[in-house]
Amino acid sequence: MYPITRKLFLYHVVLLAGSSTQFVEARTIYKGTVSLSYMARLYSMKVFTSGKKVILENKYNKLEFETNSRRSWINGVMVWLHHPCRKSSAGWGLQEVDFKTGFDPILRSYAYVPKDTPRLVVIDPGHGGKDPGATGKNKVLEKEVVLDISSRVKKHLESKKIAVRLTRTGDTYPTLDQRNDYARKVGADLFISIHADGVESPDAHGVETFITTATGCDSSNHYGQAGDKTAQRNNQFDPANAILGFSIQSNLVKMSKRSDRGLRRARFSVIKKASCPSALVECGFLTNPAEESLLNSVSYRENVARGISNGILGYFTLVKRGRKQR
Ligand SMILES: [Zn+2]
Repeated sequence: MYPITRKLFLYHVVLLAGSSTQFVEARTIYKGTVSLSYMARLYSMKVFTSGKKVILENKYNKLEFETNSRRSWINGVMVWLHHPCRKSSAGWGLQEVDFKTGFDPILRSYAYVPKDTPRLVVIDPGHGGKDPGATGKNKVLEKEVVLDISSRVKKHLESKKIAVRLTRTGDTYPTLDQRNDYARKVGADLFISIHADGVESPDAHGVETFITTATGCDSSNHYGQAGDKTAQRNNQFDPANAILGFSIQSNLVKMSKRSDRGLRRARFSVIKKASCPSALVECGFLTNPAEESLLNSVSYRENVARGISNGILGYFTLVKRGRKQR
């Protein structure tokens, strides 16, 4: 990690897909905000506006910011900000927390990933036993769907020689704390909880990935719950969570072909208490008739499992690349 003063720090910049190393002196953080023009300099991107969006782009990456909004996109994948992109005397900018726990880790992962390759991934199929989770009109149960998807993720990762354990392998209900305790006991290096969504409206649809909300900030889940804003155990992994969550959401959208609800923030119990980088994946809405029938099909479950597995494998690749670039 780099020593960071509030107003001025030096960066070694290696762009995500680039091989060139540049040294950029950037006065990036000023009064708690990071202007988009500074980010453009830092990442060697050109900046321009298009309608309500400010866009930063180079030949490898494209960042889009919706002005006065919490929505942004990295290479077309939605990333929810903790705070809206706002205009100040320095132009359009982000809050420091969104730069430090979101954009910079995702764009310069090598500077943030742990130095050791993860050894053990714990997959947590949500709900189970007495708790069916969300239920569709045709009685497709979340607890059954997510156990099947989780088992498929395990199989794919094991085929790449990655050790995987599940928090449940049958129709049982470990409590949320028992799931975290299990992951800690077996020495999990990554903890991924797998769910399917359910809300009142049958219209809601799409896939989303949650990571722990940064300390002091509001969440961005669709229940609108802000929760306790104090520091959580998992907040020590904020940058790694962003790298992992973005990799999963990108691959999940690609493989599921469902609409992208984004990389979001929430203080769900199983992720905020995780003792390692963690994400919670929502694989579609059982309350949406079209997605219920997809979630009931083997081919969709397999595609979702491939998306999640590819996302986890992408994180492994970034850890290895980070070691080489340090
Ligand atoms: Zn659930």
